[in-house]
Amino acid sequence: MTLAHFLDNLRCADCGALNVLWLDPVRALVECRECGASALTVPDTDDGRTA
Ligand SMILES: [Zn+2]
Repeated sequence: MTLAHFLDNLRCADCGALNVLWLDPVRALVECRECGASALTVPDTDDGRTA
């Protein structure tokens, strides 16, 4: 069981803040602590054959 992880060296695409994104592994989304923008992290939907 893990709670939210902060993601180092990632920049929010919306507000541009650095090191404010955290990963919620339960909901599989990344959320910005600054502006509240969130994005789904899509793990391995089609098995990595997207060339
Ligand atoms: Zn943001």
